[in-house]
Amino acid sequence: MCKTLKPMMIAAVISLCFIISANAEETVSINSLVDDAETYDNQKVTVEGEAIGEVLERGDYAWVNINDGTNAIGIWMKTSDAEIIKYFGDYKHVGDTVRITGVFSRNCTEHGGDVDIHSVAIEIVKTGRAVQDEISDAKIVIAVVLLCTAALITLIYLKITKNKKQ
Ligand SMILES: [Zn+2]
Repeated sequence: MCKTLKPMMIAAVISLCFIISANAEETVSINSLVDDAETYDNQKVTVEGEAIGEVLERGDYAWVNINDGTNAIGIWMKTSDAEIIKYFGDYKHVGDTVRITGVFSRNCTEHGGDVDIHSVAIEIVKTGRAVQDEISDAKIVIAVVLLCTAALITLIYLKITKNKKQ
């Protein structure tokens, strides 16, 4: 019995270690990747940041830009993965916060020497939202013009009625 139990326990311990290490993936800041590109080159990394701009579809794969506040990087991912991202950051939206695990390249041979990450896993950490439309300068100008016009019409009207009474 002991002979079969021992390998089983070893297998259990190994698989447990594997699960722990898989879950303990620390995110690295994009700026650290860029600053320390030689160290991270061809390494599996996890980054977390806001999806910004728009998806650039290239058939089955697509580019998505991620900005984590320290820097931004292009992520090469399956188009089907890109489709789960609902919001992309721009002047009207806060983009989804996504966690990307993939292989970092400081000189990607597939993409003409680009600095990029080829995603193997994507997770939406936080859904983005639309930013409340701020009152534009043009709207304020229109409002002031309308108000002045209304005041002017009122003045003219009052003057006309006053003249009629006399
Ligand atoms: Zn690439």
